[in-house]
Amino acid sequence: MLPEPAVTRFAPSPTGPLHLGHAYAALIAARRAGPDGQFLLRIEDIDESRCRPIFEAQIYEDLQWLGLTWSEPVLRQSDRKAVYHDGLKQLAALGLLYPCQCRRADIRAAMSAPQEGVVTYGPDGPVYPGLCRGRRMSVAGAGDALRLDMGKALSLVGDLSFIETGPLRTGMHRLDPARMIAEVGDVVVSRRDMGTSYHLSVVIDDAAQGITEVTRGIDLFEATFVHILLQAVLKLPSTSYYHHDVIRDDNGKRLAKRDDARAIARYREEGLTREDVLLRLGL
Ligand code: GLU
Repeated sequence: MLPEPAVTRFAPSPTGPLHLGHAYAALIAARRAGPDGQFLLRIEDIDESRCRPIFEAQIYEDLQWLGLTWSEPVLRQSDRKAVYHDGLKQLAALGLLYPCQCRRADIRAAMSAPQEGVVTYGPDGPVYPGLCRGRRMSVAGAGDALRLDMGKALSLVGDLSFIETGPLRTGMHRLDPARMIAEVGDVVVSRRDMGTSYHLSVVIDDAAQGITEVTRGIDLFEATFVHILLQAVLKLPSTSYYHHDVIRDDNGKRLAKRDDARAIARYREEGLTREDVLLRLGL
């Protein structure tokens, strides 16, 4: 039997101009879909304080210039707050959420207490020390974040794993519950004043768009364990993953949005062609 054609996506946040790293991610996603598959676009604009319409417009322009076409509709996360709210309601009904009022400084202070020992860093920063874990959802205020009780969530699911098809970590990766508790902890699934989070939106939207292979940078590899757990708890279909290398600057640092020197628009203005960019990316 022939393998099903893949459905992939490119999911930029319009918080700055796309740079070489984004071009690479978009081109890989389109290539993994191949001629028979589907390449989709998603605008990850949940953080309204940082997203700008001008950057969204530039995303379409840059991708077209790169020769990419995508299947409509483009999914915009800012249009989907009600869907994320439903996801949170499901998690809350399972007793997996608690409201957290800690600010970064509270967490830092708790973690520097002598009895805390060594601070562990997970995919979202320091592993949350659980200060608010006893709080009930009934006391949740508008300014609270919502955290996933990692221990409880793990107790609801069986063995979990995902298939990595990318070249850097090829194979099957199993989720280790003890490591999830110690090294990831109670992640935020709804950020303060935002009504969702990257982790929650990404799993809900990958399912909504029927993605069969998630392609993205290797810097998000560890977050994938959170995603397969959320998929299992929310009873969403699983996908395979293809994590690719990230493009770095001359000092070996991952390119950031503020790295305007490598913005695609800048290359275009300087008269470079699409082929020059592909060559630079080794594609
Ligand atoms: N919006 C994310 C970014 O710009 C991509 C997340 C993903 O592909 O899962 O880095």
